[in-house]
Amino acid sequence: MSEYTMTIGGAAVAGSDRFDVSNPATNQVHATAPECSREELEAAVSAAQDAHAAWRADEAARREALSAAAKLLKESAAELGAEITAEQGKPLREAGYEAIAGESWLGYYANLALPREVIQDDKRAFVEVVARPLGVVAAITPWNFPVSSACMKIAPALAAGNTVVLKPSPFTPLATLRLGELLRPVFPPGVLNVVSGGDALGARMTEHPGVRKITFTGSVATGKQVAAAAAPDLKRITLELGGNDPAIVLDDVDVDAVADGIFWSSFANAGQICSAIKRVYVPVALHARLVDALADRARNVKVGDGAAEGTRLGPITTRPQFERVRELVADALARGARAAAGGAPMEGPGNFFAPTVLTDIEDGTRIVDEEQFGPALPVVAYRDLDEAVARANGTHFGLDGSVWSADPERAAEVASRLDCGTAWINTHLMQGPNQPFGGRKWSGIGVENGPWGLAGFYELQTLYRSRR
Ligand code: NAD
Repeated sequence: MSEYTMTIGGAAVAGSDRFDVSNPATNQVHATAPECSREELEAAVSAAQDAHAAWRADEAARREALSAAAKLLKESAAELGAEITAEQGKPLREAGYEAIAGESWLGYYANLALPREVIQDDKRAFVEVVARPLGVVAAITPWNFPVSSACMKIAPALAAGNTVVLKPSPFTPLATLRLGELLRPVFPPGVLNVVSGGDALGARMTEHPGVRKITFTGSVATGKQVAAAAAPDLKRITLELGGNDPAIVLDDVDVDAVADGIFWSSFANAGQICSAIKRVYVPVALHARLVDALADRARNVKVGDGAAEGTRLGPITTRPQFERVRELVADALARGARAAAGGAPMEGPGNFFAPTVLTDIEDGTRIVDEEQFGPALPVVAYRDLDEAVARANGTHFGLDGSVWSADPERAAEVASRLDCGTAWINTHLMQGPNQPFGGRKWSGIGVENGPWGLAGFYELQTLYRSRR
């Protein structure tokens, strides 16, 4: 049983109290993690505050450390991947890719320059606009991509000269704790602190007077609590929240050519991706064929323990999320929808739900209107494209969307009308460290990635040198 430790001020902290972590493929406890006490959180924030002055002053050292961290992620991908699979459930190969994604984020920010611009240089003054770090950043992550979510936050936060206290989800703390252990030799003590604990720990971090910025990825409901907790102290926030991404299929599409792309953009990671396709709008004339093509893939995909050879879809990571998917599918079926594939939990001890394709379904059904975050996809028929766009935009969410067509220009015109942060054409889920990612409306505030994401971790200072 792995017994990973927190990283506070560069030291290992086992914690006086620990909580159980289960493998979602078996629902058996396979490890414990430290429950960070109030005193330990104080120590982590103090260590981050103490480390800040030296860290913010040395950009070259920051770049070097981030490059070394990227290298370590690459070398440790298999080890971290195994830990991710055991606590989160995804197949080993994808879990390894998650660590590699972490490497690319750390490497990208190791090489991205902070802006510094001369806006006046004359006999009156020399005036520059300079990026200054914020101080201590609280980074809070969800359970679907523990390692890559963490790296998406710590890479730009540290690159900009901040220090960090990172907290993973209590469902998936282990790979993140291990990440902290692996990176201990890379960063000076206190620069990167990793703590673990329940939701109350996250709340304490967001209220902590020593924290100047909160970068949060998680549900809309928690995001609103984070925003409220930040308000009295005017802490800066970046919120990456839920999505209910629509895919709009146009009437010129070759169904067989797009079915794989739509299927995997919805069901990868067992549907537990903020930016997965969560509803499909397809013209009436193509509806039955697309439903059949997706249902065929859903029936034949290999579902199982992510550690087993050949598994393509793992379990749902948490029991509450499994229950939610079960409830939303049952609600749809009770309202007259039909399961063209799946529709119910699978036999066995883990959180396995049969990949489900729902047809005979409309907006106004919970699984169309809400975020299911699981392996169940409603396929909705439409008659009029403008109406489909209106329905796609007609929710509180605005994370991403995609348009599928034989004519990319026509698709781009439709995509331009989607009220969301990223609009893809003939693909979905494609992200990279250089590509801004964030949600409109209830899907978030601010963006991650690229120079735009870095900008969330500094504030501008106008440095005015008088020449008079
Ligand atoms: P969650 O909101 O329940 O928890 C996320 C994190 O917040 C956890 O670490 C949790 O312990 C912590 N937390 C809980 N209550 C808190 C509070 N009051 N203050 C501070 N922290 C608190 O979300 P989840 O169930 O872990 O993740 C699933 C959700 O995350 C889905 O809605 C999904 O769409 C969203 N998500 C969004 C993105 C994105 O980039 N937009 C990416 C991945 C997941």
